[in-house]
Amino acid sequence: MTYTSFADIILPIAVRGRFTYGIPETLRDRIKPGVRVTVPFGVKGHHSGIVCGIYEEPPPIKNIRPVTGVTSLVPAVNEIQLKFWHWISEYYLCSEGEVMKAALPSEKSLREYRPRLETYIELARKFSDSELNDLLDSMRKAPRQQELLLSYLRLSEYSPGSEIRRVAKSLLLSDSHSSPAIIEVLAGKGFLSQVALPVTRLSAEGSFNEPVRKLSDAQSVAHDSIKKQFLEKDIVLLHGVTSSGKTEIYIHLIEEQLKKGNQVLYLLPEIALTTQIIRRLKEHFGTVTGVYHSRFSDAEKVEIWKRVSDNDPLNGYRLILGVRSSLFLPFINLGLIIVDEEHDGSYKQHDPAPRYHARDSAIMLAAMHSAKTILGSASPSVESYNNVKNGKYGLTNLKERYGLIRLPSIVIANTREAYRRKLMVSHFTPELLQAMDEALGKDEQIILFQNRRGFSPYIECSDCGWIPVCVQCAVNLTYHKAMGRLVCHYCGYTAALPSHCGNCHSSGMITRGFGTEKIEDEIKIVFPSAQVARMDQDTTRGKNSFSRIIKAFEERRIDILIGTQMISKGLDFENLTVVGILNADNLLNYPDFRSHERSYQLMEQVSGRAGRRQKQGKVVIQTSDPANRIIRLVLQHNYEGMFRMQAEERKAFNYPPFTRLVKINIRHRDRDLLNHYSEILGGDLKKFFGYRVLGPEFPLISRVQTWYIKTIMIKIEREKPPAKAKQFIMAAIERLEKEKGASSLRIAVDVDPY
Ligand code: ADP
Ligand code: ZN
Ligand code: ZN
Repeated sequence: MTYTSFADIILPIAVRGRFTYGIPETLRDRIKPGVRVTVPFGVKGHHSGIVCGIYEEPPPIKNIRPVTGVTSLVPAVNEIQLKFWHWISEYYLCSEGEVMKAALPSEKSLREYRPRLETYIELARKFSDSELNDLLDSMRKAPRQQELLLSYLRLSEYSPGSEIRRVAKSLLLSDSHSSPAIIEVLAGKGFLSQVALPVTRLSAEGSFNEPVRKLSDAQSVAHDSIKKQFLEKDIVLLHGVTSSGKTEIYIHLIEEQLKKGNQVLYLLPEIALTTQIIRRLKEHFGTVTGVYHSRFSDAEKVEIWKRVSDNDPLNGYRLILGVRSSLFLPFINLGLIIVDEEHDGSYKQHDPAPRYHARDSAIMLAAMHSAKTILGSASPSVESYNNVKNGKYGLTNLKERYGLIRLPSIVIANTREAYRRKLMVSHFTPELLQAMDEALGKDEQIILFQNRRGFSPYIECSDCGWIPVCVQCAVNLTYHKAMGRLVCHYCGYTAALPSHCGNCHSSGMITRGFGTEKIEDEIKIVFPSAQVARMDQDTTRGKNSFSRIIKAFEERRIDILIGTQMISKGLDFENLTVVGILNADNLLNYPDFRSHERSYQLMEQVSGRAGRRQKQGKVVIQTSDPANRIIRLVLQHNYEGMFRMQAEERKAFNYPPFTRLVKINIRHRDRDLLNHYSEILGGDLKKFFGYRVLGPEFPLISRVQTWYIKTIMIKIEREKPPAKAKQFIMAAIERLEKEKGASSLRIAVDVDPY
């Protein structure tokens, strides 16, 4: 068969490249870029894909197959989205199909999406006074019909001459204690009629449209500085200390954009944060504000999609608050993207592909909309700050807290010393206990941060040192007390708690280290009358679990909240005065080139939760190494010092932002074969990159879910355009994939793997 026009189609598969199909005459009018179509694939299969290009020149391929159908499912993907997908696939070295899979609500949910309908009852026509009286009279022998009609007239406040108002059927039935059959009878007689109208699935509570708050002098200066810099730069970094009112400044910038009719995307790293900020936004911007994150059902996601692409000023979303995946929503006219807590590691998606960084991708998306980007943080990432230093980004500083509250005072508690002098009470130093005691005495609240969940990170035989490990991964099993089991945090495998050692059969199995669950147990013993709660992955599985815990803390029903990194970020609690960091050592000792930067940010961030209103807060950092340089810098709130130290180190050792990193992850179920194939790839890459190739080597966790893992890291010079290097990497991988037996390898490429 011959065609006069052709379409390139993005298919939801991991194969790079586009797929070309012929356009049958019958479908010609309906096929446009962004439309969903079905096409044959493989021997018998079918795929649904997105049209990304149309042309008339026949491609140099034989046996072109036809597009077989147009799935007229709105919303289609718009042109900027197609461009954005393409950029992500090129930059992060994945297929556009993988981006498509991450970007679109599942096709099934689109097909099944039906607006939920609510039935309303209305008067069939405008009856006059006497007509109504006759009607009701005639119903004397049918009291239930009469009751229902009276109920309707009352609820709709109908009086002859007034407009006919609708009453929800459910309301009418409950008010009149009637049954749907009676409504049918009255409808049958031509007195009432029924209409079904779509209702939104997303609750529309809280739309007050309060005026935005007046900015303080320092905030006004910062706000004006941002706007002035936007005249020349597309990206401005707002470096504002914790509780300086960065959110208030965003709110002012948002208002200006909405007035211009533009959309705004407000990105946050963590779902937990959306519950507080959405309230602050809705207070001002009402129902044009939407939230988006992975906890939504597919049907809810489809609804958000529709409202983001909806131009209608009443029904459309103009302001979206969301986590990284909200970059893929079908925005029509973004004017501003806010990336709050821009330094946060959760903006990077590690698995599956696309392995994108939401901050960097946001900057690209903003450029495609000719929009501006604002990056906000109290402790910016080294790469963003470096981009300020080299002139790419503008910088606005905000150095004082709102209300001129002082930054929290920081106390370093030496755990080594306290253990030696036998002053520790379980895992708490005297300094921390004293601070907590004082706070509780004044009815103030406390947050304790520990970056491990579960009871203890591992258990151990006290006689021979045997430690139970996962059967599928090279990691120790974590003990979860409430479950009474050992759990693998990498694959979810669980095992019963062994009563005896698996090696020497001794009965002396003991727990080691501590996670949030153990801290909760111990705190309840130390402060028996305090209300204690925990916020970590284990206590926040339900959709609304975050907001429940946050609300309870706001309403002071919790005195002490224990949590992992999810409590460390932008939460804002009025009565919280003491923050304890239980173990700074395991932050600082994590083997990664960023661990010092990350530790600084985390400590600064979690400290920033303390003393945000009225009075100065107090932070106790427990460590066995009080002389550590990073801890000294946190003590002085010395961000510049941290940046200088890190920048020097990274320049010296060729790490980002002074080089680009590409990581290749190779997995195989057989260890020897993995060694064999990874050496082939490593050797091939060294031909082009030479000493810039590190590895192949086993990473810290060398086996996950029965797959052995090796990594190869490639350092690419900043100055050279990365396209050629990336091409070579992909070509080397393709060569490896053609080797005999290589099909049982799993290879993943991660660009900027940090
Ligand atoms: P940041 O985002 O920098 O941590 P926030 O915007 O959360 O700071 O501000 C900290 C607290 O101070 C919040 O409770 C906020 O409501 C209050 N606040 C900040 N600026 C103002 C202002 N101009 N008027 C009233 N309250 C403010
Ligand atoms: Zn033993
Ligand atoms: Zn495992």
